[in-house]
Amino acid sequence: MTKYIFVTGGVTSSLGKGIISASLAKLLQARGYRVTIQKFDPYINIDPGTLNPYEHGECYVTEDGAETDLDLGHYERFLNTPTSIANNITTGRIYQNVINRERQGDFLGKTVQVVPHITDEIKRNIRLLGESGDYDIVITELGGTVGDIESLPYIEAVRQFRWENGSGNSLVIHLTLIPFLAAAGELKTKPTQHSVKMLLEYGIQPDILVCRTEHPLNMDIRKKIALFCNVNVNAVVESIDASTIYDVPLLMLREHLDKTVLAKLKLPHKSEPDLENWKDFLGRLKNPTSEVRIGLVGKYVELPDAYKSISESFIHAGSKNECKVRVEYIPSETLTPENAIERLKGLHGVLVAPGFGERGFEGKIEAIRYVRENNIPFFGICLGMQCAVVEYGRNVLGLKDASSTEMNPNTPHPVINMMEEQKKVKLKGGTMRLGAYPCDLKKGSKAANFYGKTHISERHRHRYEFNNDYLKEYETAGLLPTGINTENNLVEVVELKNHPFFIGAQFHPELKSTVANPHPLFINFVAASMAYARKQ
Ligand code: GLN
Repeated sequence: MTKYIFVTGGVTSSLGKGIISASLAKLLQARGYRVTIQKFDPYINIDPGTLNPYEHGECYVTEDGAETDLDLGHYERFLNTPTSIANNITTGRIYQNVINRERQGDFLGKTVQVVPHITDEIKRNIRLLGESGDYDIVITELGGTVGDIESLPYIEAVRQFRWENGSGNSLVIHLTLIPFLAAAGELKTKPTQHSVKMLLEYGIQPDILVCRTEHPLNMDIRKKIALFCNVNVNAVVESIDASTIYDVPLLMLREHLDKTVLAKLKLPHKSEPDLENWKDFLGRLKNPTSEVRIGLVGKYVELPDAYKSISESFIHAGSKNECKVRVEYIPSETLTPENAIERLKGLHGVLVAPGFGERGFEGKIEAIRYVRENNIPFFGICLGMQCAVVEYGRNVLGLKDASSTEMNPNTPHPVINMMEEQKKVKLKGGTMRLGAYPCDLKKGSKAANFYGKTHISERHRHRYEFNNDYLKEYETAGLLPTGINTENNLVEVVELKNHPFFIGAQFHPELKSTVANPHPLFINFVAASMAYARKQ
């Protein structure tokens, strides 16, 4: 029978519920349990697909094409197992399902209400992953902070779920903050006490408190928290600030979070957690033998969370190469033909990021011209690849004003244009070309060599594509289409013939890089940047 763990948050947001959930899951997985994590987001959007990255950070795309919260990226990077649409539920989806059923007459004669109809739908979604039979333990992270109006139905659903499923089959971990008052020189437990009281008002006694803190919690503080919040002392877990999120599983191991959880769920310890590979990864990450500076050119750079998966992929690839990757965020709209040299000099590699819309487009083109002409390693992802095609069209093929029809619908040379199937799409959200599609790599190409195979599958999120009318011209001029989706002849990878590393991918490799499996394109891009740095 599947066991369920709920993770709630109190006191403030941004305490790192996603990382705590992923770290606990990692420890349980390392002990031989099959674990997955799902996140409930209490907003009314159906999914984060339509949210501006400034609003909510990156939109993470799963294998099955769901547009989801960036926490799912952490789950996959920690666990190295794929998530799906069932792993991210929003209030919008819950209500949509209930309202659709109401229109179908499922509740005929009844008033449809938050309790029981909305809470029933929440509970159905909690059980869904467990009922697949694929998991021993399902961790459900509740977004938001206890006390928020919009979180209430979720908290109520958890209360009902626990009552219906009996003790020992589920538990609640509450993540709170223990602030340090510098003036008093003290850690303060009162906000945690209040936050637990609020949970108690809603009928939930947390089983474990994970306390985020900047200073170690001594035994007196732990005892005090335990006494006021009705938990055992060993269920008060210190979560001290870490230098990297990848330290957190080991910090939680030191606090015996996994053992406490297993004891409360009445599950055997099975084996000691096997974390050898994880520790190797951390060892290399913390002891780099070289360093590179890589520019990330994008339009959402003010909020680094907008490029979370890319920056994490650099961490994985850096560790693999024993190289510290310093990512420098460069706002693309500030780049002009006049200042590009000044802004980009000294970088050992440049990645042009995914994105939408016109703002910053020309700056990306300038960055690409500079790195192409100067043999600096270049990696373009999605819009970044499309920009590389436009740049090459304009500056090498001499196609004046070549562009993507996304940026200039009247361009005389639409080298990137809208995919046929997208032209009829009217609705927003979940309607782009999304999720995993296969791609064939040309034998002997750089891409094929990096992957070590010619048949790959990668995830997508786009509406525009390389215009095959120009394919021959590009190929003859040296920008080679080396990855093709053979079903619809879509160019998925381009690479430049006479350049140390110039690769554009229509797909998003960053969505598949994990600690256990750093992505080959990132590994080799970092390696090429290291080679470039050595020559300087
Ligand atoms: N805006 C481009 C498209 O829709 C690129 C999308 C992206 O970078 N994810 O095709």
